[in-house]
Amino acid sequence: RDEMRFENEKMKLLGELAAGLAHEIRNPLAIIQGFLQHSKTRSFNIEPWYELIYGEVERMNSLTVEFLQFAKPNPSAFDLIQVHHCLEKVRLLTETKSIHLGHRMIYTEFNENLFCRMDLDKMLQVLVNMINNALEAMDNKGTVTVKLSKDTQDAVIEIQDTGRGIHDKDLQDIFHPFFTTKTNGTGLGLSICQKIVQDHGGTIQVKSKLQQGTTFTIRLPLGDVA
Ligand code: ADP
Ligand code: MG
Repeated sequence: RDEMRFENEKMKLLGELAAGLAHEIRNPLAIIQGFLQHSKTRSFNIEPWYELIYGEVERMNSLTVEFLQFAKPNPSAFDLIQVHHCLEKVRLLTETKSIHLGHRMIYTEFNENLFCRMDLDKMLQVLVNMINNALEAMDNKGTVTVKLSKDTQDAVIEIQDTGRGIHDKDLQDIFHPFFTTKTNGTGLGLSICQKIVQDHGGTIQVKSKLQQGTTFTIRLPLGDVA
């Protein structure tokens, strides 16, 4: 009987991973789809898209690889990364969706002197997930503001939106796997974000006001510059 319960747990975990994988493949697919739509326009310039699309295809590949290796403990590759550089990538990765939805994105107070030890791919996954949530939470012509600053030993990244906000009763649930208020959501985004940020020794906080907006604050310990 114990064996059966173990098998059931295994299947459940597999199901969760499969749903997580599908969720993560949607973001890059949306970018490639955006590229294809853009490429139909007469004045389309392919040059700036090459690196982006290549990176997205690579990201989908590494997600698949991670899925296939799921039995092994998840090895993160930590490098000393300029947080500013990470956010520049995030800006490119989220631009298409933002334009498509008619929203505005503002990047402010960029401190170029902040470096953190991070797995860049995973941190991009976190930030793209959270910006996508912000973009999806706004009905019309919203603004997402991304702010980078320093607080004692931490790099602080704030993602602020002017969206519908989160109900008080939902605030403690949003990080739970499969909690979603969206018809097509998996509810895995924030639980994956939480896990990754914790693996980086960081924290995520959230503040929200209904009909006014939400701010997610990510803190990551600063790494020593070699
Ligand atoms: P999903 O996006 O698939 O629903 P997430 O784990 O990313 O899953 O988010 C869980 C839920 O948290 C969302 O369905 C939404 O209700 C809420 N949420 C997350 N980010 C925001 C935000 N910026 N504004 C309002 N609600 C949010
Ligand atoms: Mg999400």
